[in-house]
Amino acid sequence: MIYLDYSATTPVNKDVLNSYIKATNDYIGNANSIHALGVQSKVLLNSATKQIADLLGISEEEVIITSGATESNNTALKGIALSYQKFGKHIITSEMEHPSIYKICEFLETQGFEISYVKTSPEGIVDFEDLKRLIRKDTILVSICAVNSEIGTREPLKTLRQIIHKENPNTIFHSDITQAIGKVPINFHDIDLASFSGHKIYAPKGIGVLYKAKDIHMTPLIHGTTKYNDLRSGTPALPLIVSLSKALRIALSDLENREQKVSELNKKLITFFRKFPDIKINQTSYSIPHILNISLMNIRPETFVHALEDEEIYVSTNTACSSGNMSTAVMSLYNDKQRSLHTLRISISYYTTNDEIDEFMRVFEEKYNDLNTLTLPKKKED
Ligand code: PMP
Repeated sequence: MIYLDYSATTPVNKDVLNSYIKATNDYIGNANSIHALGVQSKVLLNSATKQIADLLGISEEEVIITSGATESNNTALKGIALSYQKFGKHIITSEMEHPSIYKICEFLETQGFEISYVKTSPEGIVDFEDLKRLIRKDTILVSICAVNSEIGTREPLKTLRQIIHKENPNTIFHSDITQAIGKVPINFHDIDLASFSGHKIYAPKGIGVLYKAKDIHMTPLIHGTTKYNDLRSGTPALPLIVSLSKALRIALSDLENREQKVSELNKKLITFFRKFPDIKINQTSYSIPHILNISLMNIRPETFVHALEDEEIYVSTNTACSSGNMSTAVMSLYNDKQRSLHTLRISISYYTTNDEIDEFMRVFEEKYNDLNTLTLPKKKED
């Protein structure tokens, strides 16, 4: 099997899985219980939370454990909207977000909030001038992802923060960092809130983090009685939290060398794809090497994904969450419907080997030559 869909999800790292199993077997107490087993779990919980905070360069009280990035995004956007609506009901986001952000914004619109979508620059990041223009006195929140999940463009978070604060120092800045964490460094002091999922960094599915800076007030979405964190009640999922702390430690080490390795594999693929006149490469100088997006102009991407799957090679069309739809990122960047409907996303990990890439290219060429001879009926799907 050749897995090249690491941006959809990652396999669980063996050491991470072992820490999950150990915490499950050895720490059966509820961390909220007052007896010895509860206390034992509480000690482990506190040390895992501290490790997560230390690794991210934030404080423990700024860590909110969630079930994943979707929940973190919901908690951040709805929680801030509820908390700050007395100061304004205007929210800004970009054209390069994950679908979960758009769904939350659609909901907030039904609650009387006004959403503005900042334009994309020719380099696939936020258009700074448009952002400046959009920020108003009643703008309570700007939410912009750190790395786009389809074409991997990386936003300059520090610059965005400066622009936002210059225009309105009270506007809160949230970033969905799900596709950035473990791939590129993130400075949490550039943002007020950040969301990510553990399963993109070799932790199990079902855990995520919302970082919230201390001075930001946020109404919780989940109320309850357990004491771990008032912003997200419920019995803490200790084995998941322990495995996330382990996964983060592994993911955040040696970032530079790993990025270099992924970059070489990316370059090899780009050189290969350039041979095909009917393949367009959807990449800008801001794209990180881990996500490589191409458009197969004459082939339905779903057909191609399944053709590769027959050889146990796994890639995505655009993102796992929006497969079958037009790529919003490619559309926003190139304004080309055909190109946006025909995308294939190859996502590479530091675990990916040269041999895997060679074999992928061999099978790709074979399948491409078979399928590219069959021309599409004109204008049926588009
Ligand atoms: N944001 C981004 C940028 C993502 O890539 C994803 C996962 N595809 C999510 C949010 C949602 O994450 P989850 O499905 O783990 O909640």
